[in-house]
Amino acid sequence: MADAPMHPDTKVIHAGQRPEATTGAVMPPIFTASTYAQESPGVHKGFEYTRSHNPTRYALERMAAHLEGSQVSEDEDPSCGGFAFASGMAAIATALELLDAGAKVIAMDDLYGGTNRLFSRVRERTQNLKVHYADLASPDWHKGTLCNKTAMVWVETPTNPTLKLADLGEIARLARQANPDVILVCDNTFGSPINQRPLEHGFDIVMHSTTKYLNGHSDAVGGLLVARTPVLAARLRFLQNAIGSVMSPFDSYLVLRGIKTLALRMHRHNESGLRIAQHLERHEMVERVVYPALPSHPQHDIYKKQMTGASGMITFFIKGDIEAARVFLENVRIFTLAESLGGVESLIEHPAIMTHASVPPDQRRTLGISDTLIRLSVGIEDCDDLIADLDRAFAAAAKHAKVHA
Ligand SMILES: *Cc1c(COP(=O)(O)O)cnc(C)c1O
Repeated sequence: MADAPMHPDTKVIHAGQRPEATTGAVMPPIFTASTYAQESPGVHKGFEYTRSHNPTRYALERMAAHLEGSQVSEDEDPSCGGFAFASGMAAIATALELLDAGAKVIAMDDLYGGTNRLFSRVRERTQNLKVHYADLASPDWHKGTLCNKTAMVWVETPTNPTLKLADLGEIARLARQANPDVILVCDNTFGSPINQRPLEHGFDIVMHSTTKYLNGHSDAVGGLLVARTPVLAARLRFLQNAIGSVMSPFDSYLVLRGIKTLALRMHRHNESGLRIAQHLERHEMVERVVYPALPSHPQHDIYKKQMTGASGMITFFIKGDIEAARVFLENVRIFTLAESLGGVESLIEHPAIMTHASVPPDQRRTLGISDTLIRLSVGIEDCDDLIADLDRAFAAAAKHAKVHA
């Protein structure tokens, strides 16, 4: 990177940004033009057509590339190896086009549901991908799966909703040893570049659903890919334009605006997340809490090695049955019962009924997604208010259990 080293809290404001050339505007305008005038055929200012090049999108893409620590300079690629898409799924679909038909892929077993659907119900059919689902959180994940033909390893860490962690450095070392040309991709949506930067652990591509923490305001759907090297950046630049599922200039502006407060927001999510996880761990109505920053987390050592915060994502098991969970969910007031995550507002959901209903019951059981599992996305409200809200709902669930005992 040409820029001097900056702390992430400074990067989110300045990285890859400069005042707009003609007016000095400190935020890039939303360049909505689909096409750009040329002085003579093929002679232009670097912009021809907005699917291929857009100044507002470039500003966001450069920011993302710097935040994730890409090695690609602006001389090597105009957006420094960052590429923005219309959704997280569009980013994933484009990344899979790096693979030839019939390629061998190893993927985390409890992938985001949409990713699992794209792999197993679309690309196994249309691209003949040979996807092997492995528990990449287990040190034995590679045994009998990894080989010199493994073309891609697709990792999510922490996973959703069981918050398992995979050791990025160790996966990169083993996979590269087996096949030096393997492409290592990490979906960093739950981590965010404030808490975890997979490229620094030897990964090749970072993927984000910007819908979540990066935009952070629950008002735009989008995705990103960031390449570590100029070679991969060139391949993704070609595919982004060839496939065309690009982020709009307006959404690019919204996500860039959201990122300005990413560091502030993540510090708050981390702090409140930890406090609430500790409170839950002490609560008599709670069976078990899963939160990577708690010493009780099964992969707490990996957390300490590769993350600097555990965000606002907490999973816990309420005591009792599905009825206790239902009464609890009906009695929160500040937490909104909704899918999605990573916004300024606190959300709560029941994966078995909501986000993971499409996962067959026996597979849900294998993954540990029981009927009493509740997922929180802790927002940036006052933490005492949030704790009081949860306690009120616990009291309602306890009362219900007593009446129906
Ligand atoms: C939401 C999400 C996606 C998909 O992103 P969309 O923006 O909804 O298309 C992929 N991975 C993870 C981990 C997600 O949370």
